Amino acid sequence: MASEKPVICIFTKGDPISLQTEFQLRKKLEFRGFELRNRFDPSAELIVCIGGDGSFLKTVHECGFADIPYVGINTGHLGFFQEFQPDSLDAFIESYLNQRYSLQTLEVLTARFQDEDGPQESQAINEIVIRGAKPRTIHLDLSIGDSRIQRFSGDGLLISTPAGSTAYNYALGGSIVDPRLALLQVTPISPMNTTAYRSFTSSVLLPADMSVLIEPEKDQEKEVLIIGDGLAEKKRKEGSIEIFLSGKQLRLMRLETYRFWNKVKSKFL
Ligand code: NAP
Ligand code: MN
Repeated sequence: MASEKPVICIFTKGDPISLQTEFQLRKKLEFRGFELRNRFDPSAELIVCIGGDGSFLKTVHECGFADIPYVGINTGHLGFFQEFQPDSLDAFIESYLNQRYSLQTLEVLTARFQDEDGPQESQAINEIVIRGAKPRTIHLDLSIGDSRIQRFSGDGLLISTPAGSTAYNYALGGSIVDPRLALLQVTPISPMNTTAYRSFTSSVLLPADMSVLIEPEKDQEKEVLIIGDGLAEKKRKEGSIEIFLSGKQLRLMRLETYRFWNKVKSKFL
């Protein structure tokens, strides 16, 4: 029978601090009349993730990128997605109940390709990485929109959302993007530049409505992987891989005092 109480799903990293935080949050939310679930429930009005950014990504994937507001409670490192600290659970509940928060938009990135089961789609909120299954050079024909750009040679290509720009993308020398900009960033992973191969050495920024087409060279030996947020790994069978912002957006709860550049400053500067 459907529950009468409003439902909140809670996903928690398995470490002691996260579990302790969940225990306290449960008591407080149950007292406020919420029904709590430890797995995805499509009737939930909010999805809480207790952990770091990695846990947040895992939560979004486990919930199938459901269009229900998310909120992060940070027990990890800095937490780009995670807004609240474990010692401010009351502040979180008050701002939620009084609707004193804003909802940040997270763009969902999609890759469309063929694997051995037929047409497939992978989704991500940080990035999609295209690389070889083996530690060998791969050659990828890159098109942007309907223009054929180049044959890329190197370890692979990373396509990042604005939210993902501070993650793997940044470690590869890509640019940090203010999440209020809707764009795609294509960043080379160890590009080769020799007399034999010419590849981009910097990342390329594209408007949100353009798509990237990647056609791996035809070499049966060189299997190509499509990896979403470091979590969902799939193997291409044949044909090209199309990557684009699907237009689907997730919503992430932020305090009214949230400033992206304060997070950047405390993490990198
Ligand atoms: P992980 O390999 O255990 O950790 C990667 C690190 O990236 C963690 O410190 C994580 O924060 C942080 N991170 C994740 N998303 C971020 C974001 N949007 N902005 C800033 N930092 C972010 O993997 P994980 O924790 O499961 O996270 C998956 C992500 O790792 C992938 O999406 C990819 O971006 C990133 N990654 C980075 C590298 C690299 O930098 N060389 C290599 C592979 C993958 P927490 O500590 O809070 O979890
Ligand atoms: Mn992590």
